[in-house]
Amino acid sequence: MKEVRKSFPGSGIPAKELIAELQEIKFMDASWEDGRMFGYVFHPGEETAGVAARAYQLFGSENALNSSLFKSIKRFENDIVAIVAGLLHGGPDAAGTFTSGGTESIFLAVKTARDKARAEHPEIKTPAMVVPGSIHPAFLKAAHYLDVFTVTTPVRKDKRADPEAIRKAVNSDTILIAASAPCYPHGVVDPIDEIAPVALEKNILFHVDACMGGMFLPFAALLEYPIPPFDFNVPGVTSISADLHKYGYAPKGASVILYHNRALRRHQFFVSTDWSGGLYGSTSFQGSRSGGPVAAAWATLMNLGSEGYLRMTRNVMETSRKIQSGINSIEGLRVISNPDMGLVSFTSDTLDIFEVGDALSDRNWFLDRIQFPDALHVTIADQHKDKADEFISALKQAVGIVKGKKFENVSNRFLVSFVKGLSQLLPETWFRKFSHLVSGLLGSSDAGKHTMGAAVYGITSGIENRGNVRELMLDVLDKMY
Ligand SMILES: *Cc1c(COP(=O)(O)O)cnc(C)c1O
Repeated sequence: MKEVRKSFPGSGIPAKELIAELQEIKFMDASWEDGRMFGYVFHPGEETAGVAARAYQLFGSENALNSSLFKSIKRFENDIVAIVAGLLHGGPDAAGTFTSGGTESIFLAVKTARDKARAEHPEIKTPAMVVPGSIHPAFLKAAHYLDVFTVTTPVRKDKRADPEAIRKAVNSDTILIAASAPCYPHGVVDPIDEIAPVALEKNILFHVDACMGGMFLPFAALLEYPIPPFDFNVPGVTSISADLHKYGYAPKGASVILYHNRALRRHQFFVSTDWSGGLYGSTSFQGSRSGGPVAAAWATLMNLGSEGYLRMTRNVMETSRKIQSGINSIEGLRVISNPDMGLVSFTSDTLDIFEVGDALSDRNWFLDRIQFPDALHVTIADQHKDKADEFISALKQAVGIVKGKKFENVSNRFLVSFVKGLSQLLPETWFRKFSHLVSGLLGSSDAGKHTMGAAVYGITSGIENRGNVRELMLDVLDKMY
């Protein structure tokens, strides 16, 4: 393959040549089109993806920052928010905002809670939120940026949030409770209707993270799958995040944050009245903002209609059940808990599950690795509808390979126990130096071959001192960019 252009050309590259180069660069990416990658891409099929791409192109240069000039974008946003609010049983006073993704939606929910507390409870000096351990890191990231303290509560055996633990963790500093529908790691919906009474009783805001489920669970419920209550129908739920770029099947850069009333949403907005550049008002995090993702999300909703979503939801539910029973039928593997939709994780009590993941990667099946316990994770979307049998047979093969090659992994095993041992002996600052070495190993596993994968995951999940894992991760990020 031609080397990726590194320098800034003096005279510009002609369009035709450049497009050829772009296509060539795209070969660096792992392929998802064949349905062997899980998570990251949610594909609605060629027709819808095509019309969304066209919409993206048509409105990509419009700037959503000024909706008096670009009335089209305002219309798209209002339509989208109204549709999602309707699906999630928002009442007549429900209100929301289109955002760039789940992280921004969650960021805004935390910011709104913090600013409402600042306005109404100035006695709170250290605002805190209470979340289950399975909550998405976007909450911790928001808390980190916004200087909100996070109290993490343990989940129950079935991996769902524990309402009693949450009740006990709430105190006079608590400004927000959050839970998931469903959580990413194990795909289970938290007992929203048991947590909501805690929020109501203590008069605290309650956010439901339906980034995954917001555009899925309403349709699954219509199809009469057993879906626990999770939306504004549950009294006490005050905000919900729902991603359009996940099970909404829109191109990336599309999510919605919803509030049960407009008064709450006001705390989200930002205005500056004293700038020499004029009056400046902004509803969300971004300033100048492309109309592309908004128009593309709108076009996706319009092209699919509720029938399209019902069809894809059924496909995902059926594929998820097939894959779950396939996994459970393989000796040595088991699905964790009882997933409510298309997010499924599985582990093993007898095999190194990350070795299984590596054997799958070698065959171009890409699954996420998760921890506590070590497990593999699939996010099943519509593009996997005909892939269940193929996936299960690849998984059987991978398990066979791992069972058969115990001895070859001695070096990996050695490395894992070596690093675990070191991390217990070395003080934090020494480990920092050492971590440069280990993250070098991470960087050396090139896209196609993941031979070091299991070793590295084994290392990180085995290290007792999480501060050391943190140092390692920071090194990896620093090396990548
Ligand atoms: C993906 C996800 C998020 C974060 O959304 P981004 O779009 O990646 O920013 C939050 N919560 C859950 C449960 C998710 O799966």
